[in-house]
Amino acid sequence: MEYQSFLIKYAEIGIKGKNRHVFEEALVHQIRLALKPVEGRFRVVRTYGRVFVECLSEYDYEEVTEALQHVFGISGICPVKELDMVSPEELARVTADFVLAEYPEGEHTFKMHARRSDKRYPLDSQELNAELGHAVLEASDRFRVDVHEPEILVTVEIREEKIYLYSHVLPGPGGLPVGVGGKCMLLLSGGIDSPVAGYMIAKRGVKIDAVYFNAPPYTSERALQKVIDLASQVSKYTGTIWLHNINFTDIQLYIYEKCPHEELTIIMRRYMMRIAERLARENECLGLITGESIGQVASQTLTALGVTGEVCTLPVFRPLIGFDKEEIVDVSKKIGTFETSILPYEDCCTIFVAKHPVTKPRLDVIKRHEENLSEKIDELVETAIRTDEILICDVNGHRKYEKE
Ligand code: ATP
Ligand code: MG
Repeated sequence: MEYQSFLIKYAEIGIKGKNRHVFEEALVHQIRLALKPVEGRFRVVRTYGRVFVECLSEYDYEEVTEALQHVFGISGICPVKELDMVSPEELARVTADFVLAEYPEGEHTFKMHARRSDKRYPLDSQELNAELGHAVLEASDRFRVDVHEPEILVTVEIREEKIYLYSHVLPGPGGLPVGVGGKCMLLLSGGIDSPVAGYMIAKRGVKIDAVYFNAPPYTSERALQKVIDLASQVSKYTGTIWLHNINFTDIQLYIYEKCPHEELTIIMRRYMMRIAERLARENECLGLITGESIGQVASQTLTALGVTGEVCTLPVFRPLIGFDKEEIVDVSKKIGTFETSILPYEDCCTIFVAKHPVTKPRLDVIKRHEENLSEKIDELVETAIRTDEILICDVNGHRKYEKE
């Protein structure tokens, strides 16, 4: 089957009224970005209050639908057959052929759904439903009409110049188009959780920047490459991600030298949050995102989360907070990050981790021990931020951002 365009369906909850055009424009923009790397020429248009992707050249069906299935805001994708204006008799014949070709096997119940926006067409929508439905029934005994709960809905739209036929709806990822909700800074480690956390917040229309705390030479080039790969994979959904690679080694060594070892993780996490917040503010992000989940590890007990979050004034979003590991793994497999996440390269946290980390840190105690760092820590934080290396990650890989 040759399709000339795709009708984009989107959920309309919360986007009625004044915000509708903002939503639609963002959706159109995101669809254009998603189709950029796809071979072929496409035009994305808003007409009749809906969004269409028109195919202006040869294209690969799988490639196009795959790209569209990564665009948040799309709830369904209907491949459309377009015809030039024809008589009702001819239309009946084409419609029957279309339905048989779309559903070549098995028995189905169906319902015709004709829409006539060009009122000059000789039959109105009621008459069209009757005529076209009749033609399908005549063409094959595999089909029965069910107007209440049909398996198949066959839509025929008559507009000024053309007629549009569609029936199949491929599922989209849902959510809201990236960008309508502002931007957040994701703390992206090489693990399973944080890429999923970024995906989930982006799904609600939020653009993502990311920060990775790197500890060379304790962590290898491959550990960084893994995080870049994860950012690239997530960018399939979120669009380009600016990944800030922060050299955290000296800060970690200094904490290691000056603070009790069972508090290392928590103090380290507090410095990560502080630096992430600085970067967030410098890059117009409205919040931070982490992959934390209650009780997953010692640093994620409720007490520890409270102590970690205490350093931030921006909101910290933890979309996985109530997820079990298994549920997180399911999402990571679905979005294609799992295989990369489980590669065994060391992370900065695993190297400096204590045997018996505190599970109930006391904020006053932690703050007192952080005072041990007062001599050098501000300077170390400034250096880490100043030497920030920005890697621009997209589906094709990454390139370095050259600061002037
Ligand atoms: P992940 O949560 O990604 O699977 P993890 O479970 O090993 O990795 P934790 O030590 O549980 O990570 O840290 C909790 C959260 O803190 C992570 O989800 C991530 O958001 C952030 N984080 C931890 N380490 C780093 C790092 N090296 N760089 C950036 N963010 C980090
Ligand atoms: Mg985790």
